[in-house]
Amino acid sequence: MNLPQHSASQSKSYSDWYVSSMERLVGVVQELSHARTIEDITAIVRDAARSLTGADGATFVLKDGDQCYYAEENAIGPLWKGRRFPLTRCISGWAMLNAKAAVIEDIYQDARIPADAYRPTFVKSLVMVPVRKSAPIAAIGNYWATNHEATGEEVAILQALADTTSVALENVELYNQLHKKIGELEQSNYDLNCFAWAASHDLQEPLRTIMTQIELLERDLHGTLDERDSRYIKFALEGTGRLQHLVQNLLAHAHVEQRGSFQPVALSQVAKDVIQGLGNAIQESGATVQIGALPWVEGDAHLLECLLQNLISNAIKFHARGVAPRVSIAAQPADNEWIFSVADNGIGIEEEHQKDIFGLFKRLNTQSAYAGSGIGLAICRKILDVHNGRIWAESTPGEGSIFWFALPRTEMNA
Ligand code: ADP
Repeated sequence: MNLPQHSASQSKSYSDWYVSSMERLVGVVQELSHARTIEDITAIVRDAARSLTGADGATFVLKDGDQCYYAEENAIGPLWKGRRFPLTRCISGWAMLNAKAAVIEDIYQDARIPADAYRPTFVKSLVMVPVRKSAPIAAIGNYWATNHEATGEEVAILQALADTTSVALENVELYNQLHKKIGELEQSNYDLNCFAWAASHDLQEPLRTIMTQIELLERDLHGTLDERDSRYIKFALEGTGRLQHLVQNLLAHAHVEQRGSFQPVALSQVAKDVIQGLGNAIQESGATVQIGALPWVEGDAHLLECLLQNLISNAIKFHARGVAPRVSIAAQPADNEWIFSVADNGIGIEEEHQKDIFGLFKRLNTQSAYAGSGIGLAICRKILDVHNGRIWAESTPGEGSIFWFALPRTEMNA
C-alpha cells in the first residue's frame, strides 16, 4: 500500500486523526457487540463507516443471492439506497466475489466501475471492503467527492470495521437461532406440562373407582377372608394409595405454571398454618419446630404454602431412627432478596446429590425407609421460578440439612 508523504504539521494532524479514529473504532466495536438485529448493525455501520475515515459518503451493502443490496447510506448527496445490482456489475459485488478491498482513486479510469450509475452522484473516488474474509456476505463502501488517494490506514480502519461487522452479523444469526430454540423449548415444555396435567387429572377418577371397589370388596367379604387374602387387599390398597399420592403431586407440579395473582403474603402466618397441618407427623416423630421472624413477601399465597409444606414435611420426615427431628425456619435480608432457611438435624444428603434432588422423581432412599414420590422438591423449584427466586441445599450427611431459598425483596418488605 502506498502511504502518502506528509510534512511535520501534516503528520501531527494525521496522527491525531488516526488516534481519534482508533478511539471511535473501539466505541463502534462495543456498540456492535450489543446489536441484536441486522437493522441495529446496519444503522451502526452506516454512521461509523463515514465518521471513521471522514469520507464524503458511506454505504452498507448486503449480498442477496446474486445481487448487491444497497441497504443503507450516509453521504453528502444521494447514492443508491434501496437499490439492487447484479454482483458482477458493481464494485461492492467485485469486493465480495474476490474477497478483497477495492481502492480506486479515479472511478472513471477503472473498468470495474459502471460509470453510468455513478454519473448522477458526487463520487470521484472510493474504497470498498468485503465483510467476512471467506465467502463475504456484505461490503462497506467509502466515497469521496474529489480524487482521493485512500491511505493504508484508512483502508485498514475500514477493514477493521468490516471484520467487526462480520462478527456482529454472525452473533445476530446465533442469537436468532438461540431465540428460536428457546421458543421451541418453551412450547414443548408447555405441551408436556399440559400433557402431565391432563394425564394426572384423568387418572384420578379411575383410581378413585379402584380404591372404592377394593374397599367395598373388603367390607363385603369381611370375616370370610383368610390372612393371605387380607394381606393382598392391604397391598392393593397401599399401592393405589401411593399411586393416588403420586398423581396428586404430579397434578400439583403441572399446576404451578398457572399461578394466581401475586399479593402480599405473611410468611410467618403461612409457616404456622403449615405446622398446624403437620400436627400428626410432628406428634408421631416427637419433632420440635421453631419459627423465627419471617417477613412479608410478594407472591401466590397458595404456592408459598405448598413450598413451606414440602420443605418442613421433608425436614420432619428424613430423620434418623430414634432421633427426634429438630427443625428451625428463619429469614435474613440480603442485597435485593430475603434468604430463608429450613434447617433440620436429619439424615443429611451427600454432596454429589445436593443439586439433583430438585429434579423430578429424584429420590435417594427406598420407599420402605422413607415413603415419597420424589416430586416435592421439583415443585419447590418451580414455585421459586415463578417467584423469580432460587432454591439450594447444604448438608452434612448424618448431621442434618439446610434448605435455602431466596425471594425478591420489594419496597413492601425492604
Ligand atoms: P420425596 O420427599 O417425596 O421423596 P422430594 O422431591 O421432596 O421427594 O425430595 C427428593 C429427595 O431429596 C428425597 O427423596 C430425599 O432423598 C432427599 N431429601 C429431601 N429433603 C431432605 C431432607 N430434609 N433431608 C434429607 N434428605 C432430603
